[in-house]
Order: sequence, then C-alpha cells, then structure tokens
Amino acid sequence: MNRQKSFANDQEGIGKLYVVGTPIGNLNEMSPRAIDVLKTVDLIAAEDTRHTRKLLSYFEFSTPLISLHEHNEVSKTEDIVQQLLAGKSVAVVSDAGMPAISDPGEVLVDAALKAGISVIPVSGPNAAINALVASGIAAQPFTFIGFLPRQKKERQKELQRWSKMPTTLIFYEAPHRVKQMLHDCAAILGDRKAAVARELTKKHEEWLRGTIAEIINYLEGAEILGEYCVVIEGSTDNEDDTHNNWWNDLEVVQHVQHYIEGGMDKKSAIRQVANDRGVPKREIYQIYHEH
Ligand code: SAM
Repeated sequence: MNRQKSFANDQEGIGKLYVVGTPIGNLNEMSPRAIDVLKTVDLIAAEDTRHTRKLLSYFEFSTPLISLHEHNEVSKTEDIVQQLLAGKSVAVVSDAGMPAISDPGEVLVDAALKAGISVIPVSGPNAAINALVASGIAAQPFTFIGFLPRQKKERQKELQRWSKMPTTLIFYEAPHRVKQMLHDCAAILGDRKAAVARELTKKHEEWLRGTIAEIINYLEGAEILGEYCVVIEGSTDNEDDTHNNWWNDLEVVQHVQHYIEGGMDKKSAIRQVANDRGVPKREIYQIYHEH
C-alpha cells in the first residue's frame, strides 16, 4: 500500500511527476493549470519533442524537453526516474490528449511509483471520453479498448473477447482501417447501436450515429480523413433471459478472469461477479482464492 499526499512538502529533495493532458486538436482546450505546470517543471518528457516545442511556443514559453516515445520508453525511464530522485520535477506529455491512453507514459508512471515518487495527474482532453459523452450510448459502465490489432485474424479474436461484455465499448482507429474495423464489429458483435466521432474539437468535427450497418453504408461512399473514435453499445444478450446469461458456461474463476482481462482490478472483478451471480462477495472471493 502506498499513500500519496500530492501537494504536501513531505518529500524534501525528491521531484514530482506530473501526467499532463494536452489538446487533441483545438489548442484552446489547453488548460491554464497544464500551462502552469509545463512552465514550471524542470523537464518535460515528450512523445515528440518537435510537436511539443510547437505547443510551448504557441503559449510563449520554453522548458527543456526530453523524448519519451514507445520505442525508447523503457530505456529513458530509468534516466528520468534518476532525475526525479535528484530533485527535478518532471511532466510527461504525449502528442495529444492524456499520456498513457494509447500513448507513452504508463511505463514511466509505474517506475516512478515503484521509486516512491509522487505521480500527479493534470486533467486534459481525451478523445475517448469526448466520444463517449456525446455518443448517445450509455455513458456507464463503459470499457475503453483503444486500438484493436491491425491483423484481421487477431482483430476478430480480440473482438470475440469483448462480444459478451454488457458495457459500452470505446475504440480508437486509424482512418484507413475504420471501415474494415466496423465490418468486423458488425460480424462479431452484431448490428448494434454505434457512434463514430471524427476530428473531435476541430473545425471539421463530425458525428455518425446509427447502427453499425448504417454507418458502414454511409462510409462506403465517403472520403475517410482525420482521426476516428468508435463507440459501440454493450451486449444486451442477458437482458431478457436471466437463464441465458453470457457467463453461464464459465467457471467462477474464468468469470472473474474475464473482468480482470477487461481492465478491472481483482477486487472490482470479484464484486462484479458476485453481482452477476447474485451471491455474496465472500463466496466468490473464497472460490477465486482457493483456486
Ligand atoms: N492520448 C490520446 C487521448 O487521450 O485521447 C489518444 C492518442 S492515440 C495515439 C490517437 C487516437 O486517438 C487516434 O487514432 C484516434 O482514434 C483518437 N483521437 C485522437 N484525437 C482525436 C480527435 N480529435 N478526434 C477523434 N479521435 C481522436
């Protein structure tokens, strides 16, 4: 267990790591707090230093930058942690949105926490949450999946994993793959309610809301440009027939594992399984831990 008092001065001589959100398109979404933090830290670890330098110069300040991207995150992390331990304050940013969300940042956060460094989030835009809240599809519970695998077979296999999930599903997708990805979703998840958001916060922001098949139909004749988020309604398989729950064929342990693989921590997964099955939590806890 680790307790952090983010703004207490109880760690003299050790720096803090700020995880800072930056715009996903519209620069006016840069928050005053994010500017303040990026201005005052000793060092910014940036996914692409050229991209971040442009952001800093737009807001008329400069702070030393170091690159931290998916190909050097592991090797650079040790150096950044040493700088934090030596008393430097560091901010981590990605090219757009929140670091660690389908972007670098997670490895550094993990290493900093292991080294006893305070890690502080500085809220910023995030494409998934923007897409979710205006999609018209249930905003909770939801599962953020991010990018599906590029290879068709693996993508379909991954979709199978989520096909019985009763939560709203949020995906990121590259423009040249979005049609194929929607075809796979229709085939594996069924023709559910969906929303596709393009160029969020930008001048050409656009929404397609309907069923997956209706959206595919529209996209067949459309030019596909920009950045896309896809939001899809969760499975409703178990709504009408309580004897036909999606988890009926699963052992308790597999049922818990399903939620853990979906991103829940162990405690929440056990609570969810107990809810699904209508039995006390301790019963599930016992079975899971005896296994
Ligand atoms: N860290 C970012 C965040 O917090 O949203 C996500 C980075 S991920 C590498 C980039 C993907 O996010 C894009 O391929 C697209 O799916 C989605 N995305 C980013 N900006 C977007 C925008 N303005 N409109 C729609 N989707 C966007």
